[in-house]
Amino acid sequence: MALEPAAGPPRGRTLVRHIGLLLSGDLARPVLDADALLVEDGRIAAIGRGAELKDRGPLDAVIDCHGSAVAPGLVDSHVHPVIGDWTPRQNQIGWVESCLNGGVTTMISAGEVHLPGRPRDIVGLKALAITAQRAFANARPAGVKLLAGAPVLEKGMVESDFAELAAAGVTLLGEVGLGSVKAGYEAREMVAWARKHGIQSTIHTGGPSIPGSGLIDKDTVLEADADIIGHINGGHTALPEGHVCELCERSTRAIEIVHNGNERVAIAAVQAARDLGALHRVILGTDSPAGSGVQPLGILRLISLLSALGGIGAAQAIALATGNTARIRALDAGLIEPGRAADLLFLDRAQHSAGRDLLESIALGDIPGIGMVMIDGAVRCGRSRNTPPAERVPELLGGS
Ligand SMILES: [Zn+2]
Repeated sequence: MALEPAAGPPRGRTLVRHIGLLLSGDLARPVLDADALLVEDGRIAAIGRGAELKDRGPLDAVIDCHGSAVAPGLVDSHVHPVIGDWTPRQNQIGWVESCLNGGVTTMISAGEVHLPGRPRDIVGLKALAITAQRAFANARPAGVKLLAGAPVLEKGMVESDFAELAAAGVTLLGEVGLGSVKAGYEAREMVAWARKHGIQSTIHTGGPSIPGSGLIDKDTVLEADADIIGHINGGHTALPEGHVCELCERSTRAIEIVHNGNERVAIAAVQAARDLGALHRVILGTDSPAGSGVQPLGILRLISLLSALGGIGAAQAIALATGNTARIRALDAGLIEPGRAADLLFLDRAQHSAGRDLLESIALGDIPGIGMVMIDGAVRCGRSRNTPPAERVPELLGGS
């Protein structure tokens, strides 16, 4: 298991040059007019033309993209980690590292619900959340930023529990509805306490995910008013399409679409959001590990699905999984902007795609090839072992 301490980012300067297409992650302006980035001490320092940026001082490294594309690292808004790079759900080791090879640089826990013997008493669930938050903050699997420590609401919790969790560093709630709190009015009170103390909430939407969980219908979602309508397309059983469209329209909260959900309803949801002028509220996740397994390419597959069958432009579909999530989750990565963490995805059209370039290949339903992934300015993997081979891959060169 590659568990690494969350040490500071590497010091030094890296020039990323000959970028053929620079995708910003910003829905409103998804393509930037630039061909180079300067990375300094793990952060994006400048965006511009390689000819100018190379003269800003000595370089420790150069990455030549050879005309391939750069995008922000992908954010998976909905995962269920337990500890380290092991998942008991499918008894699999190395699943996070596999997702890194699918371009994911940040994951957000929707609850550590698969822990064998998960405590459901209040002191126990708080202890688990704090332990998970600490463990993943202290040791990043394969370098991936895994924001965890997401307690599941149980009956009997009072406001001081949320204050105590927040003071201990907990910033997320696990999916509302996976514990004993399932009624809208009960959830609403606890979600409001969480929000008051700076803890962001997500609600399970749709039918039960596994035996033992329950149905959360549209009226419960609206009443609970969690910050994120978790897997609006079901996890996996979805609400009727009309109810999903009604949620997009009547709620102002984030609309989360997941890979391990109903694909037909995923398309209906993204189109409803688009027609409402609310694409900025859409974020993507896998909801893995799950009964459907772990999908290292889940976010890429979802981007291609929403682009090819949902009619969302490929560059905008990438923004749903990067800049949108960054803004809604208050991350310091997810956008190509000076000052942001240098979490970068280097990608290109997969070899022999029918699409003539990267964006057309995605719009035709293919998934791109990944040539390199960087987190906080450090190269975490070269050519992905999981995607189809990219046509062009970046090359890491020495400095000057
Ligand atoms: Zn769920």
